[in-house]
Amino acid sequence: MGEKDKKLKFTATDIRTFFYCPRLYFFQEHLKEKPVSPRQRVRLLLGRLYHVYKRLKGRLKGWKTEEQGYIELGSISIHGRADAVERGGETLLVHEYKSGKAPRRGVWLSDLMQAVAYAFIFSRKTATRELLVQIHYRDKSVRSRVDSDTIAIFVRALEDMYIIKKHGVLPDPNPSPGKCSRCPFSGICKMMEVDGALSGWVREMGPIYPVGSQRN
Ligand code: SF4
Repeated sequence: MGEKDKKLKFTATDIRTFFYCPRLYFFQEHLKEKPVSPRQRVRLLLGRLYHVYKRLKGRLKGWKTEEQGYIELGSISIHGRADAVERGGETLLVHEYKSGKAPRRGVWLSDLMQAVAYAFIFSRKTATRELLVQIHYRDKSVRSRVDSDTIAIFVRALEDMYIIKKHGVLPDPNPSPGKCSRCPFSGICKMMEVDGALSGWVREMGPIYPVGSQRN
């Protein structure tokens, strides 16, 4: 396969980062240095421990955990490892564990889109009519159907991510005081313009997607 025929590779985690902040995705993709503060290291470690605990619980319920896969879509491929996947008849349910708290209603958009990426990847392996994702936060668990609106948002993100990765175009940021205070790229980010040219729609959507039904 020639260089120009190579597919651009994205991960489900990249998709989550894009929805969290498109500009952070740009920095992670194009800047070699990815500084991590000691506080962030501790958060990462705690997050990993939480995932191990939740995966063990999933395994005891008979779910397939840490399933790895990928899907090719035209000139791109999407890769990921789902926390747990449950299959029943023509239904596929992806479980995603998060160590943080849920919003009061719905789910965090970035978490939902990460889970949708896994649902996409694993739906190709089996004849699936119904795609569901369930996000397990520390305080509650929310299940949601992957419908045509969700898929349209997901595809729109992939189009922007393609431009960012392939052509190095700087997207608009999706800032918040909390996010930016923890961001290792905040210094360089402040020096850059916001021009509304690419991915400004992510900020307009807001951080919460009002879907899903609460579960125990
Ligand atoms: S400083 Fe804020 S807006 Fe800029 S990349 Fe980081 S999270 Fe995004």
